[in-house]
Amino acid sequence: RTKAASGDGFCFFAANMDARAREEQRIDNALRQALEDEQFVLHYQQQVDLKTGLIIGCEALLRMRDGEGGFIPPGEFLPRAERNGLIMPINEWVIEEACRQGARWHRMGLPDFTIGVNLSPVQFQRQSVPLLVARILGETGMPAHLLDLELTESIVLHDREQVAIQLGQLRDLGVKISIDDYGTGCSSLSYVKHFPVDRLKIDQSFVRDMQSNPSDAAIVRATINLGHSLGLEVIAEGVETKAVANLLLLEHCDKAQGYHFGRPQGADVLEQQMLAQTGNKIDHVEKIQGLA
Ligand code: C2E
Ligand code: MG
Ligand code: MG
Ligand code: MG
Repeated sequence: RTKAASGDGFCFFAANMDARAREEQRIDNALRQALEDEQFVLHYQQQVDLKTGLIIGCEALLRMRDGEGGFIPPGEFLPRAERNGLIMPINEWVIEEACRQGARWHRMGLPDFTIGVNLSPVQFQRQSVPLLVARILGETGMPAHLLDLELTESIVLHDREQVAIQLGQLRDLGVKISIDDYGTGCSSLSYVKHFPVDRLKIDQSFVRDMQSNPSDAAIVRATINLGHSLGLEVIAEGVETKAVANLLLLEHCDKAQGYHFGRPQGADVLEQQMLAQTGNKIDHVEKIQGLA
């Protein structure tokens, strides 16, 4: 009202709001259309065991086709999907697609290969994630212990009790639970105390420069020790150089993920790498047996 009285200010404000609303409408429509036309794709980024250097799993990362052969990263459309509710069908598709792929890899003879899937806190407010996951595991044949659900700490901002119950039920199904971007939320310690989790993923903002930044290195070291003291597995994300990978190994970090090992890529590309690795491993075993 005061703005209306000041004339120009209000018009400017209103025009702005209008442009924003129209932009949001445009994104909403694009998301709905993308769901309908199956324009979403998963890329997979490998995760390695730091001790052996072998690929032991991957994280599924969502992209949207831009219609010109390119891909739109999740940061550009997921925040809106979380606000307009489309995150529900979108992430349901993600879990289904990742589990179909995981089950296929399992049947191909890659028995211990895990797939990480990112969940949104919104899902825990609006639906029973355990029921959804149980149905998808049943339909796809994905072994539960190979599915690793990644949650960020922001989930504790929502109904704690409800979230704890759902995480307990997911645990009962046999799926793994990771805390993603660990260390960036304000509730890291209480999260670990209150929720049944299996794994910490140290946020890339601490990992990337740990070689040159002593505070980052200290935070990473402390997080690895905390995780291990609690019996959790620790994985570092955002490993971009060999030097950082070596440092993490020295600090007894279990696993790592980052551009140094590989970028997110199509399922077929990762599959070739894994098959090559499995082949090499078999060759290696045969050689050793041949020598014996
Ligand atoms: P995140 O789960 O922490 O995923 C890691 C992000 O870091 C990915 O970005 C990945 O491409 C990027 N990354 C990996 N290695 C490196 C590295 O060495 N250096 C740098 N600078 N970056 C690296 P992306 O794919 O853009 O995903 C961004 C975020 O979007 C994810 O962060 C996750 O929170 C969210 N997201 C992705 N897919 C899904 C999904 O299917 N559902 C939901 N709810 N969220 C998703
Ligand atoms: Mg993640
Ligand atoms: Mg992360
Ligand atoms: Mg992140």
